Amino acid sequence: MDLRYSIRDIPDFPKPGIMFKDVTTLFKDANAFQFALNAMYENYRDQGINKVAGIESRGFILGSALASKLNCGFVPIRKKGKLPAKTIRQEYSLEYGTDIIELHTDAILPGERILLHDDLLATGGTMNAAIQLIEKMDGSLVGISFIIELAFLKGRNHLGTHQIFSLVTYDKE
Ligand code: AMP
Repeated sequence: MDLRYSIRDIPDFPKPGIMFKDVTTLFKDANAFQFALNAMYENYRDQGINKVAGIESRGFILGSALASKLNCGFVPIRKKGKLPAKTIRQEYSLEYGTDIIELHTDAILPGERILLHDDLLATGGTMNAAIQLIEKMDGSLVGISFIIELAFLKGRNHLGTHQIFSLVTYDKE
């Protein structure tokens, strides 16, 4: 199955010049959702993962389904101010200004084998901040997974030497 046909392009969203990759069309299709989940599962099933850490908010969808299938826990990485208990935070740069993501301080135990997941890799800024959160908690980062990688933005270059797995790669806009 080519998941490209299940992903919808929305031009100029959320602002002019951005081609938004809409994964709601993939999730609403039972076959596509199952295919994506199985492909991720096959890649990580033998890696002894203790927790999937998913990034708000589209990283929660496949991330939590994957955690369930891997029979491991799921922990959310959220935008600032959303998590109710004690958190650690990481600031990162946006095109204009900065943003902050947070993780509960008790979400990850030292040495736990962690898989990071988000729906899409663009410039890599968000995922780079998430990596730093896992490292601050002394988690062992086993891999980084995306549904979509916009390879022409070279986000990989900001993710160090970690193992990266993407289901669909776009080489040009
Ligand atoms: P970045 O930090 O630049 O890698 O951006 C990744 C985050 O922004 C992910 O959480 C994506 O959901 C979102 N994002 C960035 N660009 C797009 C795009 N073209 N289509 C859909 N989501 C995007």
